[in-house]
Amino acid sequence: MLSTMQDVPLLISRILAHGSTIHGTSQVITWTGEAEPHRRSFAEIGARAGQLAHALRDDLGVRADERVATLMWNNAEHVEAYFAIPSMGAVLHTLNLRLPAEQLAWIVNHAADRVVIANGSLLPLLAPLLPHLKTVEHVVVSGPGDRSALTDAGVQVHEYDELIAGKPTAYDWPALDENQAAAMCYTSGTTGDPKGVVYSHRSIYLHSMQVNMTQSMGLTDQDTSLVVVPQFHVNAWGLPHATFMTGVNMLMPDRFLQPAPLAAMIESEKPTHAAAVPTIWQGLLAELTANPRDVSSLTQVTIGGSACPPSLMEAFDKLGMRVCHAWGMTETSPLGTVARPPAHAVGTDEEFAYRLTQGRFPAGVEARLTGPGGERLPWDGESAGELEVRGPWIAGAYYNGPDAEPLRPADKFSEDGWLKTGDVGVISPDGFLTLTDRAKDVIKSGGEWISSVDLENALMSHPDVAEAAVVAVPDDKWGERPLATVVLREGATADFRTLRAFLAEEGRIAKWQLPERWTVIEAVPKTSVGKFDKKVLRRQYAEGGLD
Ligand code: ADP
Repeated sequence: MLSTMQDVPLLISRILAHGSTIHGTSQVITWTGEAEPHRRSFAEIGARAGQLAHALRDDLGVRADERVATLMWNNAEHVEAYFAIPSMGAVLHTLNLRLPAEQLAWIVNHAADRVVIANGSLLPLLAPLLPHLKTVEHVVVSGPGDRSALTDAGVQVHEYDELIAGKPTAYDWPALDENQAAAMCYTSGTTGDPKGVVYSHRSIYLHSMQVNMTQSMGLTDQDTSLVVVPQFHVNAWGLPHATFMTGVNMLMPDRFLQPAPLAAMIESEKPTHAAAVPTIWQGLLAELTANPRDVSSLTQVTIGGSACPPSLMEAFDKLGMRVCHAWGMTETSPLGTVARPPAHAVGTDEEFAYRLTQGRFPAGVEARLTGPGGERLPWDGESAGELEVRGPWIAGAYYNGPDAEPLRPADKFSEDGWLKTGDVGVISPDGFLTLTDRAKDVIKSGGEWISSVDLENALMSHPDVAEAAVVAVPDDKWGERPLATVVLREGATADFRTLRAFLAEEGRIAKWQLPERWTVIEAVPKTSVGKFDKKVLRRQYAEGGLD
């Protein structure tokens, strides 16, 4: 029997129409590095998104399904592109501006982008790439920056504001199929070529609703969210779409992502919420310790992208910024779990431990654990296996060209269509996920697994340690053993013996898991999205550490 309900597609144009009218006075505030940030209301964003769509279609000839790339920081124009491009039926392709040039060119060619909208400050990155970009015909430039690099670049160059000026603000957004491609984002290619994930209107719509639930970020139009997590990576965790549903103001840092300007924007614009990966917060914490400021407005901080060290959560709690830990990946849109403690644990000694887990799965995400032999493992809080997920905002394949069959590599998708996350962990009987490691980072020592994350967290709770990353190095006897690379705080005196003894104290780490190999480094190398880049460390130290 069919339902009697209306069949209205879940479209991004609908989110835009809602945000720019019902929440028309909410704002996107873009940091400029000058006395006054730039403010644009959701209503203005809606009007300018209409103008941008007209310009893309009428002046640049963009048609349905064509890819329009952005090479941009978090700012108001990027939000306009987020809404205009999918709403008109084209596909938004956000480019990760921290990727090596070669990889960026590969990605643009693979996606066959016809237009790139770029921030002026990123032209030094884009210009040398252009001769290698086979399909790009137009570059639209927005914001400050020297344009001269684009002279004789072999593409048509447009100024964003001039291009949209005078265009009608209303656009008759097409009635698309909700399963049509809306946006694409490539994984950062940790192994092999990057892989393209293509989000649909429906997946983005449903994901945004989840982001807004109280059990997730749960923000309202009384909030301002400092969106540090980049729009060029996994849709800034869905915040631009989610905020247009609820009227949350967005504070956008543009290119000012260093700890000092971040602290300044918190003090002056008073966001109530912020979202970023742990490395950003470590930097901010050091900055606030050295130069205290009034950051009391910021009471909620969403941390994800890599495990939140307990020491960071504690330090933020002390500052009155309550950390909410979440897990996800490019393939999961990204929201996969959120660590909101269950009611019975709130206010008890158990609460902190719950908050440190990766969290619970929302209703839209199903999860299972698979053991090394492919067996299903119980949710008993002890059986560790690879996490597999499925749901309406989880990828079921990778992009392989507009007309080609999508890719479903066997190491990423199960035969029955679940996404294999590559993350290893346990799930408690009440559904809380604790990741012990990434499958490729776990240290396989004499048939047992050692969690590099546990060692890192324990090390980073020592007051002399600023950062620590642990990688596997080959070992004749055990196959692999952990190597601890440590960044000491300024003036710190701890040596390896002290740190090793600290790890062993109070049963922090089992004796057989203690690293024998140690080295002090200046900084832990970071990936394009600010996570510890263990690949680089492994390359550097695979021959064994120093002691
Ligand atoms: P990449 O794979 O290029 O790093 P993603 O941003 O998609 O790009 O990374 C997803 C991965 O990041 C997850 O598979 C997981 O290993 C890690 N991750 C994300 N959030 C967390 C978290 N809260 N705790 C631990 N690991 C996390």
